[in-house]
Amino acid sequence: MNFIETRGNDGRHPLEVSFSAAILGPMSSFGGLYVPEALPQLDEDFLRKHLDADYKTLARDLLSLFEIDIDAHVVDRALALYDLFDDPDNPVPVVRVKHDLYVSELYHGPTRAFKDMALQPFGEVLSALAQQRDEHYLIMAATSGDTGPAALETFKNRSNVQVVCLYPDGGTSDVQRLQMVTEDAENLKVIGIHGDFDDAQNALKLLLGSESFKAKLREKNIQLSAANSVNFGRIIFQLIYHVHSYLELVRQQAVVMGEKVYLAVPSGNFGNALGGYYAMKMGLPVEKILIASNRNNVLTHLIKNGSYDLRSMSVVSTTSPAMDILKSSNVERILFDLYGAERTKALMSQLDNENHYQLTDDELAQLQQFFAADFCDDEAGREYIREAFDNGYLMDPHTATCFKAYETCTSKPLKSIAYSTAEWTKFSPTIANALTGEVDAHDLDALKSIAAKANITIPSSIQALFDKQITQKTIIDKAEIEQQTLEFLS
Ligand SMILES: *Cc1c(COP(=O)(O)O)cnc(C)c1O
Repeated sequence: MNFIETRGNDGRHPLEVSFSAAILGPMSSFGGLYVPEALPQLDEDFLRKHLDADYKTLARDLLSLFEIDIDAHVVDRALALYDLFDDPDNPVPVVRVKHDLYVSELYHGPTRAFKDMALQPFGEVLSALAQQRDEHYLIMAATSGDTGPAALETFKNRSNVQVVCLYPDGGTSDVQRLQMVTEDAENLKVIGIHGDFDDAQNALKLLLGSESFKAKLREKNIQLSAANSVNFGRIIFQLIYHVHSYLELVRQQAVVMGEKVYLAVPSGNFGNALGGYYAMKMGLPVEKILIASNRNNVLTHLIKNGSYDLRSMSVVSTTSPAMDILKSSNVERILFDLYGAERTKALMSQLDNENHYQLTDDELAQLQQFFAADFCDDEAGREYIREAFDNGYLMDPHTATCFKAYETCTSKPLKSIAYSTAEWTKFSPTIANALTGEVDAHDLDALKSIAAKANITIPSSIQALFDKQITQKTIIDKAEIEQQTLEFLS
């Protein structure tokens, strides 16, 4: 299957590209994204046949429906990485939390957040492509906390790929920072930046757009690529767990095959929700996808009123920082799928130039056939964490936002699947605050008090971070990023 462009073709880019080309060079005409030219269909027969299949078999069969140009043995090696999750037989457990609400836990991978679901196999695929083509890639990433550790973990010690990861010094949790600064593989460089996440991200964008920087990389025979969530190589792995979670509900006899469910997704850049949308369009029995946000609630407005309006908004810091995003990149793929390339190009250029767009009533009605939305502020989030804990379930603040959407957006008596995107260990100060009232605890103290309160132990991989040697000590001003990167590459 080939991939086409969300904003139409500019006459310079190819009209369509293969999957591997879309992964290696994710930017298309007019700054658009690549999308599959058509979606394969999942009939009930496919679903039935996979009721007894394990996660990797389901994944392999879904990927083959897309007819991607990746060798079977590379796909197998990529999917084998799910064996490193807590339970190799079931990397994504789905647990019942109350009568009609189930939680699909996407955080059982090496860095304890859902980014591993896609980045683990993606790292294997990208490195294999680079080796086959005898090319060398530099992956640059700016992280607010979860993408950095997951990207470093997946690329460490891989051939033909080097990674430079920028994080805001003081802007991540202790656990997130330690996961990055204790990485010691030679192909990884972690750089703390004086400033916040936007500073790190803007500095990165400047560098990625710099012709002189690219020329210097060319001299070294290195190409630039990105591992951010607009890369379709990540999206394709995010379809799988939605299908898996539905099949789990059938296996647990919570639904009968064909019965519809709600999917509640804590959303930032919309990769997770997009995977759910594609699964729904492919035929997964989904009533609606509930988009959960925090106070950065631009998606709530879009889905309720059809208006994407950044003119009076600026990012606010919340206790669910992985969702502190206003420009949600993957929404563009939904616009394309519903309204076509010409309209998408018009809407996206209006957003770029005027910071807003408004859908027509017809367009909004189409969007609302698939999505409903609500947002949850920090105080309400803490309440949901406390209440869930009292009912025997420990969850993180991102997951908590879904509980609000589940309450306010489900109009039919159907089962709901909420996605849990991080383990409690990654956002422990907020959870400790919700459970015990303690404020401003450091991660280690918060981890200990949650562990005591919940009568569980701190996972050894998290505990060990606090004793590991810090190997990545670079903390610099933005202006020095280019020079530090070039020094690392030579
Ligand atoms: C990245 C992330 C999200 C947001 O996911 P998107 O696919 O960008 O919408 C939510 N929660 C956590 C913990 C994350 O790391």
